[in-house]
Amino acid sequence: MEKILYKSTRSKDGAIEASQAILKGLADDGGLFVPLSIPKLDKSLEELSKMSYQQVAYEVMKLFFTDFTEEELKNCIDRAYDTKFDTEEIAPLAKVDGAYHLELFHGPTIAFKDMALQILPHLLTTSAKKNGVENEIVILTATSGDTGKAAMAGFADVEGTRIIVFYPDGGVSPIQEKQMVTQKGANTNVVAIEGNFDQAQTGVKNIFNNKELAKEMDAKGFQFSSANSINIGRLVPQVAYYVYSYAKLLAEGKISDGEKINVVVPTGNFGNILAAFYAKNMGTPIDKLICASNENKVLFDFFSTGEYDKNREFILTTSPSMDILISSNLERLIYNIAGNDAETNSAMMADLSSKGKYTITDDMKAKLSDFVGDFATEEETAATIKKHFDNTGYIMDTHTAVARCVYDKYVASTGDDKVTVIASTASPFKFTRAVMNSIDSNYDKLGDFELVDELSKIGNVTVPNAIEEIRNAEVLHDNKCAADGMEDIVKKFLGI
Ligand SMILES: *Cc1c(COP(=O)(O)O)cnc(C)c1O
Repeated sequence: MEKILYKSTRSKDGAIEASQAILKGLADDGGLFVPLSIPKLDKSLEELSKMSYQQVAYEVMKLFFTDFTEEELKNCIDRAYDTKFDTEEIAPLAKVDGAYHLELFHGPTIAFKDMALQILPHLLTTSAKKNGVENEIVILTATSGDTGKAAMAGFADVEGTRIIVFYPDGGVSPIQEKQMVTQKGANTNVVAIEGNFDQAQTGVKNIFNNKELAKEMDAKGFQFSSANSINIGRLVPQVAYYVYSYAKLLAEGKISDGEKINVVVPTGNFGNILAAFYAKNMGTPIDKLICASNENKVLFDFFSTGEYDKNREFILTTSPSMDILISSNLERLIYNIAGNDAETNSAMMADLSSKGKYTITDDMKAKLSDFVGDFATEEETAATIKKHFDNTGYIMDTHTAVARCVYDKYVASTGDDKVTVIASTASPFKFTRAVMNSIDSNYDKLGDFELVDELSKIGNVTVPNAIEEIRNAEVLHDNKCAADGMEDIVKKFLGI
């Protein structure tokens, strides 16, 4: 098997092992770790079609994490994808009005972040052992809602780790907030910051880049790592479900071997769709990668014009996990289409940080022809939920509805009838009010948990465990800070 090393998107030198990249999270120069090349699948699609989710995950991850032994990797996979998921299939496909919804929300926090965050703690602690790290690992995470809970659920009580989560006060759904502030585990902390998601994310990045603080931490036996989707240990596990969905469609005779499919992804930080891009580059027969945005349509504008411009109003929508103006993982794509050229990428990222925008070259733009960008307005998103509920009885969440709406528009305008997989990123029970209001505005009179029960009734689906758990759970975290007070609160929690 070819050995895969990792380097930063912002420098030419210093390739490191996968376990080291996972441990570091972000490179010292502020860049993101990328594999020197994207490995090719070494099993045929036919062979993959006979495998379980865990087996496919192994076949994908072994090609990227080449310094892990078979036993180490299988151990991580088995501990992650077990009965914490409410279906043995882990990521089932549901056919809804002619497209396949890849349900990535059957994990403990009912959103797709579980797919990677259930395994990341095990990848991290294994990486620490492999590299003789004795410091306690401190995870800092900025969340627009789902990452925070999913990260805490993954790390809670994992020995040798602590986790601190920052979320924008008022920028997440009431159920998301309740899920976070009721999190158990002595090693977990949650803080609401007075600012939006981008400020939270920038704050976390600044703490990571603070060399002085890193020294102080090391002296006290701590080191930072990241659970955000910039960590390569988050990205790679996500590649697995795109390969798996293809294998599953093949196993069920919905496609023939080698037939190309389209993939639609509701996008925020660009991690999920980048995983689909990696799956395609590994040899999964994927044609179009359809990038769906909500009204924060910075990516749609980027794909249309080649200019990425974050200088615009930040809009709070009913799909808050996609309310993002700086899609961090896009940097990995920029690096790739620049021909793996760190200098070009660095110049563009410098423009992004000084002017809030950059423009790619025509050559780079030409390499984006597999991507299709579009967006859905709030009205369109709500209408999409209602339309497909009326047609089929299936209820999708607001994020998935953004993708479904973009897909429906794509088919109407192109007539492209390829078999299509839509990444379904959250359970409707996580965004109950917005989902139910889309079906009938009279539901708005109901309380949060009355809505949950009503959704269960009209959708004919049982209430997921993740929701039952928080009905009467005790609030365990009540912390707030200013956007510029994040470092102080981290120090306080660590007692340094
Ligand atoms: C995080 C998230 C997204 C966006 O995924 P990215 O990888 O950040 O693009 C979409 N939907 C839901 C429900 C999410 O939690």
